[in-house]
Parts: sequence; structure tokens; C-alpha cells
Amino acid sequence: MAETFLRLDNITKSFAGTSVVKGVNLDFNKGEFITLLGPSGCGKTTILRMVAGFERPSSGTILVEGKDISPLPPNQRKIGMVFQAYALFPNMNVEDNVGFGLKIAGVGTDERRSRVAEMLKLIGLPGYGKRFPFELSGGQQQRVALARALAPKPKMLLLDEPLSALDAKIRVSLRQEIRAIQRDLGITTIFVTHDQEEALSISDRIVVLSAGNVEQFGSPFEVYNQPATRFVATFVGQLNSLRAKVTNPANGSVSIGGQQAVVPSLPKTAKAGDTITLTMRPEAVSLANGHARDIVLDGTVAEVNFLGSVIRLKVKLGENAIELDTFNDQRTPPPAYDQKVQVTLAGSDVLVLGE
Ligand code: ATP
Repeated sequence: MAETFLRLDNITKSFAGTSVVKGVNLDFNKGEFITLLGPSGCGKTTILRMVAGFERPSSGTILVEGKDISPLPPNQRKIGMVFQAYALFPNMNVEDNVGFGLKIAGVGTDERRSRVAEMLKLIGLPGYGKRFPFELSGGQQQRVALARALAPKPKMLLLDEPLSALDAKIRVSLRQEIRAIQRDLGITTIFVTHDQEEALSISDRIVVLSAGNVEQFGSPFEVYNQPATRFVATFVGQLNSLRAKVTNPANGSVSIGGQQAVVPSLPKTAKAGDTITLTMRPEAVSLANGHARDIVLDGTVAEVNFLGSVIRLKVKLGENAIELDTFNDQRTPPPAYDQKVQVTLAGSDVLVLGE
């Protein structure tokens, strides 16, 4: 059994009568890398700030290792934080920035110096101690911010969109670096982002939030492959939606723009004549190429998007359109625009979504 480190017990938060966090219950394990994911304004930062102690919950309790931390001010919560904007002290060099928390805590000069050196090594910037923030790139500044947060040996690390000001390549390499350091130290970490790819790539578990509610809490695999709600399915990853008419609910028969298909997982309430929406991921769909699965549909290529290792095709199916991914195989060029094709998918890959 994993050990619960942090518990949010029925947390709510209102600002001037508007409720922005609505009864959130979450248990995070020791050493886990958790991501709070959701669109702008869904309450991610507010939850993080309540854990840090910068905001008080309107109701509910936050427990760390079973103890209510509400009486503790932020500086007694043993938390390290990194923010989106580079929040380094501009008039202090890297050494002094990283050593700042230690100095406040009264750690002596020698111990401080050795801890700072250890931290600079950890973030891959040994020898940068005498530089000032303006002499560093954005990525280097965020690494120093991370070192500063970790230097006092916090029990928990809170990262509020730490990568969003960086360019795409640095963002990817730094997120992997952060994850490697986090694993090394085994520190319980909460990472806030609105970028679903970032969340899927580095988290042990993801909390998907919408308008102050938890939509789903699960591993990247679960959140992507078994989305609990329509919101999760559309916010995390790409999703196709096809309009279909139920023809025989007893055996799952539907008509997709006049073409017959069998969907084993029709909603129980479906009646003959109902119009329903079928959804599926692009990678669940393929070109038939002699390997037809349960559902086969005739269509016409409407778009060919070459993405490098993958080619994303959009195929028109009468009033519907479906997107699918094919691997880029140098020996087999993709179908051309306007070409007639057949697309196929397994009935079990049709997602049945709750509202
Ligand atoms: P973003 O990704 O844009 O940072 P978020 O999910 O982190 O969004 P929060 O910053 O938690 O969202 O804000 C949630 C809601 O609470 C927003 O509607 C915001 O305007 C509101 N809010 C946050 N802080 C305050 C405050 N101090 N006073 C009033 N309203 C606030």
C-alpha cells in the first residue's frame, strides 16, 4: 500500500462569493509526481497556493502526513516553490540566490557553501555560482530557481507552470531534467500546467480539473485511454466525433452517414432512430489496406498533414470527417488529397463518454 503524504479533504475556495475550488478530495502518495492539469481559470494555482499556505481554504482541511497544516505559515510548511516568471533576486549572484533559504534558516557559511555547490551540480550548472541572473538563459534561470527551492531540503516541491516562458525545445529537455531530479530525490511534487502533452509525459498521476472540480485523477495511461468524462476526453489529446443513427440497439448496429457499423458499447439507453455521437482517438483508426477490423467506412482524403514520424490524415465520410494517424513509412507514400480510401477501427476503440 502506498503511503499517503498529502491529503486534500473536501477543500473549497471562494473569492468574493464566487466559488473557484469546489469540494476537492485528493490523496497524493509520498514521492509522487502529480500534475494539476486544466484550462486557464480552473483553479490549479489556487489549489497550489492553498497547499503552500498563501491562501486559506474557505472550508476543508489540508493534511501532510496526517497532520492538519492550516495553522502553519508558508515558511514553516517545508515547501519549495518554483514559479512561472523567473523569480530570482536580480541583484544577487547564483550562489546567493541558491543559498538564500539556507541563510534565512541560519545555516552556517561552510555548510551553506557546500550545499550550494551540491545543488549547482545537481542542476548541471557547476561553476555558475558567481554569475548574475541577467547573465543566464531562461532555462538556466529556471534551473537556478529549482536549486534555490531544493536547497533547504523541503518535504514537498510545488511547481507553478515553471516551463511556460521557455521555448519549445528547452521546455521538453528541462521537464525531463526536472523529472529526473525529482525521482533522484524522491520528493513529493505538484506541478501545475495547462499543457496536456507536458502533463502526460512526466506525471505519475494527473488531476484533470475543470471549473474548480476534479474531472479525473489517474495515471497518464488511464486519463488518456479511459477518460472519465467528455471534458477529459476532449481536453487531453485529440478526439474524433462522428454523428451516427442507432438502427438496432440490440446488436449495436448504427448508420454512419448511411454506412452500417456495429458498436458493441452503445449506451444502454440508446433507442432505434436516436442520433448519437461516437468518439475515438486518431491512432485507433487506420487505413484498411487489407487489414479490416470491425468497422470499415468508405471516404475521401480531405487533408494530409505531414508531421514527421507520423502523418495525420483527415478523411471525409459524407457529413462526418475522421482524423487518423499513420506512421511515416519511407517505402509507402501516404494517400493523396481527394483519393478514395477505406478507414477501419475496432468497435472496442469507440469511447463511450459520460457527460
Ligand atoms: P491559469 O492557468 O490561468 O493560471 P488557474 O487554473 O491556475 O489558471 P486560478 O489562478 O487558480 O486558475 O484561478 C481560478 C479562478 O479564481 C479564476 O477565475 C481567477 O480569476 C480567480 N481568482 C484567483 N485568485 C483570485 C483572487 N485573489 N481574488 C479573486 N479571484 C481570484
